[in-house]
Formats: sequence, structure tokens, C-alpha cells
Amino acid sequence: MTAVGFLGLGAIGAPMATHLARRGPLVVWNRTATRATEFARRFGARAAATPREVAGQVEVLITCLPSSREVEALLDGRDGLLAGLRSGTLFLDCTSGDPATSRRLAARLAERGVAFADAPVSGGTNGAEAGTLTIMVGADPATFARARPVLDAFGSRIEHLGDVGAGHAMKAVNQALLAVNILAVGEGLAALAKAGVSPRVAVDVLNQSSGRSFVSQSLVPERVLTGHWPKTFRLALLDKDVGIARELFRDTGVEAPVLEVTGEILSRARAALGEEADYLEAIRLVEVQAGVELRG
Ligand code: NDP
Repeated sequence: MTAVGFLGLGAIGAPMATHLARRGPLVVWNRTATRATEFARRFGARAAATPREVAGQVEVLITCLPSSREVEALLDGRDGLLAGLRSGTLFLDCTSGDPATSRRLAARLAERGVAFADAPVSGGTNGAEAGTLTIMVGADPATFARARPVLDAFGSRIEHLGDVGAGHAMKAVNQALLAVNILAVGEGLAALAKAGVSPRVAVDVLNQSSGRSFVSQSLVPERVLTGHWPKTFRLALLDKDVGIARELFRDTGVEAPVLEVTGEILSRARAALGEEADYLEAIRLVEVQAGVELRG
């Protein structure tokens, strides 16, 4: 049975890895080692002390870290992945990373006979728990064919979007659209509240009308209106994603003034709310600035 290694047991990485643990041999590594040992104990995996130790024991490696920078940094050093990687290994990066770094990573790994695919995910921590994530893959066709049955453990829609980097480009644009929507829905509801319309009624009407979206249909009713703000996805990570999208627009020469402004607002929100704030808390800043509360 194929042995899989998983590095990065964060908010989304951990529930993704549980599906792999149910399927077969799994070796896990996490920067904060206690998370890996606790995961191994609960789900019947093996915890490795270093990335090198993981690489030496598996045929498939999966990373799920904040950005491509952290993934690339795991390669080097005495205890790094390259010190343990064997030729023929499949390397799947489920980080929401950036296309340029992934292309560089793929080239470095190819020199060692290791195939690489970028495979960022969408669907949130709920989707990871349910094993129903959408996975956006950038890879050559042969690598995609090898990746699909592995990704199938935690994904229900696995899409091959093009060569290495295409998955990350797709994910960054998705995140940018999510960010635009969060801010725009927050601003719209704040203005309606000040105009005397109850936020709950406004959301109901919006969701029967053409302005509706995932934000208005799911996120706002479940969190903003209830005043229940779980931490599932850090605002800092969404800000990072929009930064990747802005880079993509610059690289492709597409003018994107809406996204530029969104990126600036998000970066300010991140500075104000800190690295641990949840992404939807960006709406809290809209509330404060407008002097309204949308709970209700
Ligand atoms: P978290 O912040 O919850 O976890 C980050 C993980 O990366 C932790 O395991 C952390 O280790 C590890 N890490 C952080 N810095 C380093 C480093 N320098 N070297 C090694 N390991 C490091 O993030 P998420 O799990 O939420 O997100 C992971 C990726 O998935 C991101 O790219 C994110 O954008 C993406 N994503 C997240 C979603 C979500 O709903 N949360 C949805 C879709 C995509 P430690 O335990 O030591 O802190």
C-alpha cells in the first residue's frame, strides 16, 4: 500500500490528513511537534521528527503550509526534504501558494526525479472534514494521473487546470473574488442598516435576488447575523492569497483596480486585527467604521 507523508497539520491540513490515515500508512510532520504526535496517537499515523525522516519513508508527500515560501524552505538543510527524498516520489503541494515559486520548486524536484503538482483546495475546514474539497491541480498530465487517486481521499472535485502553477493561479483568483465579496456584502449591509433595514431581512431579500453569493447565503447568516465567529481560516492567509492574485494580474498585464483596492483594505484589516483573526472579521471593521452592528 502506498505510504503517504503529510507536512502541515494546521486548521485545514489536519482534517485532510485524517482521511489519508484511514486509507493506509501515513507519516506526519508538523513544525510544532506536539501537534504531530497528538495527531499520530489519535488517528493511527506515525509522527516523524524531521521533514527528512518523512521523505525517506513515503512514496507520496503532501504539504499544506501557509505559503510557497514555507514549502520551499522545507527542502533545504540537514533535516530538509531533499536530504531524504527518493527518486520517483510524488510531491503534492496543497498550500494556497504562488505559481512562480511552484514552477521553481517543480524544476528543483525534477532534477531529483521527483514529480510535483500544485493542488490547492477550496471548501473550508468543513469540506476538509467531510472529504469534499474542490482541488485545483497544476501538473503535467502524467503527474495529474498519479495525483488524482491520492487527492481523492479528501476531495470530491479534482480538476486539472494546466501545467504547474495553474492550480495556484486558479485558487488565488477564487480567493480574490471571495475577498471582494466579503467586503462588498459588509459595506452593503452596513449602509442598509443605517438606512433602517434590518440586517436579517436585508440578507433574506438579497438571497432571493441577483446580488446573492456564497458570502450572503452561507457566511453572513451562519456567522455575522448569529454573532458566532469561529476561527476557521486566518485573515492573514486571505490577505496572502489576494497578494498572489495581485501578482498574477501584474504578470499577465490585466488591470484589476477592484482587486487592488480590496488588497489594500485587507492588508489594513490584517494589520489592525492581527495574525490570528478569522477572515470574516474583516466585516467587523466595516461595522466599526460605519458605527453599526449587523448581528440580529
Ligand atoms: P494554519 O495557520 O492553521 O496552519 C499552518 C500550518 O503550517 C501549521 O501546521 C503550521 O505549523 C505550519 N507552518 C507555519 N509556518 C511554518 C514554517 N515556517 N515552517 C513549517 N511549518 C509551518 O493554516 P491553514 O491550515 O488554515 O492553511 C494552510 C494552507 O491551506 C494555506 O495556504 C491556506 O491559505 C490554505 N487554505 C486554508 C483553508 C482554511 O479554511 N483554513 C481553506 C483553503 C485553503 P504550527 O502548528 O507549528 O504552527
